[in-house]
Amino acid sequence: MAEDTVPVFDTLVVIGPGLIGSSVLRRAQAEGNLARRLIAVDQSPDVCARVAELGIADEVTTDAAAAAAQADCVMLCVPVGAMGPVAAQVIPAMKPGAVLTDVGSTKVSVIEAISPSLRADVPYVPTHPMAGTEFSGPDAGLADLFENRWCLITPLDCTTTESLEKVRTLWERCGARLREMTPAHHDRVCAIVSHLPHLLAFTICGTADDLASETRSEVLDFAASGFRDFTRIAASDPIMWRDIFLSNREALLEMLGRFMEDAQAMARAIRWGDSDYIVDRIERGRKIRKSLIENKQA
Ligand code: NAP
Repeated sequence: MAEDTVPVFDTLVVIGPGLIGSSVLRRAQAEGNLARRLIAVDQSPDVCARVAELGIADEVTTDAAAAAAQADCVMLCVPVGAMGPVAAQVIPAMKPGAVLTDVGSTKVSVIEAISPSLRADVPYVPTHPMAGTEFSGPDAGLADLFENRWCLITPLDCTTTESLEKVRTLWERCGARLREMTPAHHDRVCAIVSHLPHLLAFTICGTADDLASETRSEVLDFAASGFRDFTRIAASDPIMWRDIFLSNREALLEMLGRFMEDAQAMARAIRWGDSDYIVDRIERGRKIRKSLIENKQA
């Protein structure tokens, strides 16, 4: 068999087959070289029934420990607030040498939550695939969700070379581009590129809604394109985003503070008619958009 047709893992257990987990399952089915056997685990029998109906795993169960006992890799795809409790449930059941990985959107607090349950014979590879949509659940997944997207990996002392290599290969076979960094650096980067934009989107939608009810006006009826783009981001899952905000508190508040200073500077430029400042800021925004398009990230 050619090397890239050999599955990275024999049995891959995906815990939390929602948007991200079911996308990994779909990709694994489509490629056939991520794992030979796929097991999906969800706490809800209804979600399990839907995953079985979709036919995206060989086996579906609510019993996380029993599934983990069969795994060569356990991938935690639950909301970041559930990572610690789920890890505590599955790690004791894992085979020696099986790999633990997670896809949580924050890294420092997820690693802190998982660490007390870690075992010396279970290497752990924290990851964050930077791909998503505003939809959630097993129906939302897409086999090509990670195509050309970044997957950030934050190796730890307990990440063995072999486990890192396997998890890297898995994400490469999902179509992702890889970058390694420290967990703290990851959290600062994601606070600015992902968490702050979501905070702004939820806030601006709330403000518009308050205005509409205060003035009994039709603010939302005439939502122009800029506002519409915010509403797409604001449609994201509340539990997932509550968990992300709370678990990346420090970095997010730091970025919000910097943003508020910059927004104040823009307000001042508008008040005093400082056209140069305003144009400079808008041009910087245009440049960033252009470079994202060139990088195939838009
Ligand atoms: P999602 O679509 O809501 O899926 C989460 C899944 O986890 C659901 O099936 C949920 O099932 C299940 N779940 C929750 N608690 C569980 C538990 N204790 N035990 C077993 N299953 C449990 O969310 P997602 O967007 O895929 O996000 C999953 C993870 O990926 C999160 O950590 C998130 O930070 C990360 N992530 C998300 C994105 C994104 O843009 N969406 C991008 C990169 C990484 P129930 O419905 O039954 O609770």
